Amino acid sequence: MTARVRWHARWVVPVATPPIADGTVITEGEHIVWIGERRQAPLGGRDEDLGDAILTPGLVNAHTHLDLTVLRGFLSDLPFFDWVRTLTRAIATLDDGDLLASASLGIAEGLLGGVTTFADTAPNTAAFDAMRALRVRGVCYREVFGPDSKDASKHLATLADQVAAMRRQETELVRVGVSPHAPYSVSDALYAAVAEFARRERLPVAVHIAEGADESRLVAQGDGDFAGFLQGRGIATPARGSEPLEVIERAGLLQRDTLLIHAVRVSAPAIVRIANAGCGVAHCPASNAKLGHGIAPLLALLRAGVQVGLGTDSMASNDRMDLLEEARLAVLAQRAASGGHDAVSAQQAFRLATLGAAEALGLDEAIGSLEVGKQADIAAFALPQGPRENVYDALIFGPRPRTLQAVVAGRERMRNGIVHDFDLANAARVEDAARRLQRWRESQTKV
Ligand SMILES: [Zn+2]
Repeated sequence: MTARVRWHARWVVPVATPPIADGTVITEGEHIVWIGERRQAPLGGRDEDLGDAILTPGLVNAHTHLDLTVLRGFLSDLPFFDWVRTLTRAIATLDDGDLLASASLGIAEGLLGGVTTFADTAPNTAAFDAMRALRVRGVCYREVFGPDSKDASKHLATLADQVAAMRRQETELVRVGVSPHAPYSVSDALYAAVAEFARRERLPVAVHIAEGADESRLVAQGDGDFAGFLQGRGIATPARGSEPLEVIERAGLLQRDTLLIHAVRVSAPAIVRIANAGCGVAHCPASNAKLGHGIAPLLALLRAGVQVGLGTDSMASNDRMDLLEEARLAVLAQRAASGGHDAVSAQQAFRLATLGAAEALGLDEAIGSLEVGKQADIAAFALPQGPRENVYDALIFGPRPRTLQAVVAGRERMRNGIVHDFDLANAARVEDAARRLQRWRESQTKV
């Protein structure tokens, strides 16, 4: 007999159906078995009375790089090319233990904000190992880089080995995918090889695409900072299309199992093709704003029927692992840019942080909403002070609500600020690694 729990709260927000005042969700083991008004809830099992709280699906972070949590604040105000170059060199000075601690801290911060699912891209297994240890849900897209087409088959062979090793350790909660990084770091030949590999192995794909002006310039004109860098390494930079999306489209990556990260600079015709292909989009408004990349056309993507989820991106470009704040920013940025007072609603924004992200990741049959039969991935927030007629307004526009609990597959992972299985030594190690990075930077500027 699996444990049966009756979760009661002032509000239950199932997302796929209207909010329920004085609601109850009943879970049995890892599944949701009942949802409705408390006065109608069947008896039996343990009662978890959350009181003046909002019970929601666990939040789904559609894009992050957990291993980079240690870089918070380290790269502020750099132009994107310098940001990428410094990040790459800085992270190379850290060891596996540092990266594991960094990823663990990132997950802990996510749980403290109600995030229960993480879609992570990384060239290492730090996030993959940390997710399994902390028993959260996730997709780990193994990153591959290689701007020189001559090296494509070599990079693919390495990727195939890395993915095979990870797949042997896949769990019900943590799955593996692949991520050819971005047009300025991946050749057309490597994109095509990864696309073919992913199809053959039935792996989901994530690509950083159409993020900043430098990338668009490299693709459309073959010049700019990235082009100069590549040419310096003997790599030709011919124009590859009128906009970045064409590069992955030609490689066969515009398809259902591909997650497009950012999609800031996409034309109206490209948005139609994204919608027709059934690709998901990870919208990262804070990262895009902080790096000066602009505001992604969220309204146009949603109107076209694209499945969009919210992502925090890494702490190197955000610096907060806070999906509710991401949702708030998504609304505010679209309203500011469009001049429409109701351009994106609080309800729509909350959907982007839950069911929308689950759809974008292809996980919506299991998570993203509170529905009978789905996984018991749950977040509980203290009801913030303020207007309470509309619970979505309270979640998105109200004061940042304190997270009371985070539950993954029926298992409590965080309660009242305590993250289960999280060793506080991780936080100390990240502090230490951050100090070493600071010294490394000082040594760099001396020469
Ligand atoms: Zn990213």
